[in-house]
Amino acid sequence: MTGPELAVDLVNLAGGPDWSVERVLHILDEHQIRKTSSLTANSAERLRQWALMLRKAFDATDAEGLCRAINSLLEAGTSRAYLSTHDGLQPHLHWAPEEEDVVARVKAVTAGGLALFTVESAGKRIGACTRQGCETVFVDTSRNGRRSYCSAKCGNYDAVQRHRQGAPSK
Ligand SMILES: [Zn+2]
Ligand SMILES: [Zn+2]
Repeated sequence: MTGPELAVDLVNLAGGPDWSVERVLHILDEHQIRKTSSLTANSAERLRQWALMLRKAFDATDAEGLCRAINSLLEAGTSRAYLSTHDGLQPHLHWAPEEEDVVARVKAVTAGGLALFTVESAGKRIGACTRQGCETVFVDTSRNGRRSYCSAKCGNYDAVQRHRQGAPSK
């Protein structure tokens, strides 16, 4: 599931103070994006702009908003979808020609991947942390699909706050 998780990492990196070519390269590497050597400060900046667009999908509060956000991503980021079996992999979808530059390929795989994930999860597993002040986004691949925090840490923090306020803890 390269697309959605790559989108999460880019959005979270862009939301913090640590955006740099090195960090972006590290993320692309972790998600097995190929031919990344052409990434420059300039193209990394284009990816940062793209991450801000990706964020809209995670911030959407209903299915219509989510579909609107992802349709914009598909329109801006994909050209044609086709199946590939490169490197002995199982057939999987590519959303832009392989000769495209790294920015175009990252846009395509994140837009296309989020669209597929939205279909498979009925639009319910793409979100942002509900702890106040935390901007971290996630895709929920848990079994029950009820994740509302980016991490156990944020979940625990909120549980403690609720407890202190005398609210019934969940
Ligand atoms: Zn591929
Ligand atoms: Zn959080």
